[in-house]
Amino acid sequence: MEYFKIKPKYKKNILIVDDEIINREIIGNFLQSKYEITYASNGNEALELLDNKKNKFSLILLDLFMPVMDGFELLEIMNESGLVKSIPVIVMTADKSAETKCIKLGSIDFITKPFDLPEVIIARCDRIIEFFEGKNLINIVEKDSLTGLYTKDFFFEYIRQINTLTSSEPMDAVFINIDHFHLINELYGREKGDLALKNLGEKLLAIANNSLGIGCRIESDNFYYYCKHQKDYSDMLKELQASFECCDNHHKITLRIGVCSNITPDEEIELFFDRAKSACDSIKNDYTKHISYFNNELKEASIFNARLIDDLDDAILNNDLIVYYQPKYGILSDVPILKSAEALIRWNHPEFGMISPGKFIPLFESNGLIQKLDQYVWEQAAKQIKYWKEKYNITIPISVNVSRVDIYDSTLEKRLNQILLENELSASDLMLEITESAYAENAAILVNVVNKLRNDGFKIEMDDFGSGYSSLNMLTSLPIDILKIDMIFIRNMMNDAKSLKMLELVLDIAKFLHVPVVAEGVETKEQFTILKDRGCDIIQGYYFSKPVPPEEFAPFIEAML
Ligand code: C2E
Ligand code: CA
Ligand code: CA
Repeated sequence: MEYFKIKPKYKKNILIVDDEIINREIIGNFLQSKYEITYASNGNEALELLDNKKNKFSLILLDLFMPVMDGFELLEIMNESGLVKSIPVIVMTADKSAETKCIKLGSIDFITKPFDLPEVIIARCDRIIEFFEGKNLINIVEKDSLTGLYTKDFFFEYIRQINTLTSSEPMDAVFINIDHFHLINELYGREKGDLALKNLGEKLLAIANNSLGIGCRIESDNFYYYCKHQKDYSDMLKELQASFECCDNHHKITLRIGVCSNITPDEEIELFFDRAKSACDSIKNDYTKHISYFNNELKEASIFNARLIDDLDDAILNNDLIVYYQPKYGILSDVPILKSAEALIRWNHPEFGMISPGKFIPLFESNGLIQKLDQYVWEQAAKQIKYWKEKYNITIPISVNVSRVDIYDSTLEKRLNQILLENELSASDLMLEITESAYAENAAILVNVVNKLRNDGFKIEMDDFGSGYSSLNMLTSLPIDILKIDMIFIRNMMNDAKSLKMLELVLDIAKFLHVPVVAEGVETKEQFTILKDRGCDIIQGYYFSKPVPPEEFAPFIEAML
C-alpha cells in the first residue's frame, strides 16, 4: 500500500467566513461531502483560525459584509502578510462593483449570491484548489528517483497534513544514516553507493507503508522517517540493516538511527528532526551503539551549542578567543632546535570559563562558522609572526589549521595572500595544516586547491595522519610538504610491535619521498628517543611544552638567541 493511496482519508479543509448562518449552511452543505468545513462568522474569528498552525486551509470562501471585521479588512491583512499567496480566497458577493477592489487585494475568484447550482460551486472550488497546489508545487519533485521516497518539501507538506488530523497522537521523528557512507563510494564506486541507498530507501518505504509512517531521503545518505510513537526501534534497525545483505560482501555496511520520540507536533516539525539527528550524531564514534534517543542531556547540549553559535561574534570582538602556540622542535641535531609553532585556539567564555576546542570546533565545522574562526586565527598568527620577527629579528613560522569548509571556498587563496600582504610575510612563514580525512574525502578538489597554494609558496602539512582512513598509497600520490603523524600512532607504538613497525614504514616512505615528518602528542622521554632513533624530523607535544599563550612562548624563542 503506497502512502498516497490513503491520502484521501485526509480531506482538505475549506474555511467559510460569513456572518449569516443560512448562507454558511447552504454553501457548507454543498461542499461537505468532499471537504472538511470550518466556519467563522467574521474576519476576526477567521484570523484566529488562520493564526493557529494546526489549521491548514486549502481555500477560503469570504463574505464581504460582516460585523466586527469585514471581508475587505481581512483581505487587506492577508494581502499585507502575503497569506493570499498561499491560500486562495474566493469572495462571495451580490455586489458586482466590489470585484475590482477584491482582485486588487488578492482574491482569486467570485461566487455570486444568491448561489449558483451546487455542481458549479464545487467544480469552481476544486479547480482553484488544484490550480493553487499545482502552482506551489510545480517546481518540486515529489519522489526521489533513486529510492522512491518523498523528497523533502513533499515530506514536510504531508506531515503537516497528517498533523492536522492526528494532532493529539504522540509521534516520533527518526533520522537514519549510513556509517561512513563516503567511504563506500570512495572504495567501491558510486554505483555500489547508489545500490546501498536504493535498497535502504526501498526497505524504509516498505516499512512506512506497513505502519502508516512516511519516509524521505533528505540528502545523500540521510533519511527521515515520521510515524506514530513506538517504544523500540531495534526491529526496524534490523530490518533496515538487512537491506544491505545483497551488497555488503566486501565491506559490512552499518546504520545508525536517532529518534526524537513522543512529540506532540505543535512546534516546528523540522526542530524534532534536528533533534533526532543530534541524537544520531551523539553515537557517531561509539561502535557499540546504533540507536540513540534524544534526551535531556542532549537537549542541554543543543542549548549550549546554540549559545556558542550566538556568542561567536562577540567572542571575536571582545578578544575572548585566544590563540595559543605549541612549539615544534627539530630533533635531528644533538640539541633540539625550535623550528616553528602550531596555532591552537582557546575560548575564555565570560560565563562558561575556558572551553576546549573539542567542544566548539566540531560544532562550527558542522555549520560553516569555522571559516570565521579560522580567518581570525590566521590573522592573529600572522600578526604574531610579524611581532616576533620585529622583536627578535627571527622568523618563527606558524602552522594554522585549515578546515574542510575553507578548502571548498573559492576565496581561500585570496584571503590567505591578503593576510601575508598585510603583515609583510612570505608564504613560507604561514604553514597550512590540512587534516588527512579531507584528503580522503574529495581528493580531486583538494589536490587542485593544494597545488595552487603550493604554487604561491605555502607549505602544506597533512595533519592527523594515521587517525582515520589513510593509506600509505596516499602519501605517494598527494601533494604535501610535511607529514604530521597523529598522536594515536605515537601512543600505539609503545604498546605493540606491529604499530611500531608501521611507524617505521611511514618514516621510511616519507624519507624516500623527501617529506619531513612531525610526530604529534609526544609526551615522554621514551617516545622521544624511539622517534629520534628512527629518524623522525620534528616533535610536537607535552614533552617540550603544552600550547601556551604568546607571552609564555617568548622564552622558547629567547632560549635560542
Ligand atoms: P590538532 O590540530 O590535531 O591539534 C593537536 C591537539 O593535540 C591540540 O589539542 C593539542 O593541545 C594537543 N596536544 C599536543 N601535544 C599533546 C600531547 O603531548 N599530549 C596530548 N594529550 N595532547 C597534545 P587542542 O588544542 O585541544 O585542539 C584539538 C583540535 O581542535 C585540534 O587538533 C584541531 O583539530 C582543532 N583546532 C584547534 N585550534 C583550531 C583552529 O584554530 N582552527 C581549526 N580549524 N581547528 C582547530
Ligand atoms: Ca593541527
Ligand atoms: Ca593533528
